[in-house]
Amino acid sequence: MTIVAAVCAVGMRRWRRMSLRRAAATRAGSSPDRAITIRSYAEMDEHLVRRWCACGGYLERSGEGTRENGGRRFRVARLRCQECEAVDEVFFDTTELLQ
Ligand SMILES: [Zn+2]
Repeated sequence: MTIVAAVCAVGMRRWRRMSLRRAAATRAGSSPDRAITIRSYAEMDEHLVRRWCACGGYLERSGEGTRENGGRRFRVARLRCQECEAVDEVFFDTTELLQ
């Protein structure tokens, strides 16, 4: 393999990883602004089982917390990737949650 080809391959890989990370940062639930509105905790589970790490690994739930921000209530699920150990937080808007 020539040096040029090697540099190209590294660049491509880096670009791919960056675009994956960018996609992860803008997907639903990645911040309070993008919180997923839920009406029951079952909906939260549904969202979480369909969520995968940007690397393709399985996300394991490592904890949950509640947060308040500007009069809205959020449930934050903490996930951890079993492959790359990346930590992901998913925001759910529970302001309208049926009690
Ligand atoms: Zn991962």
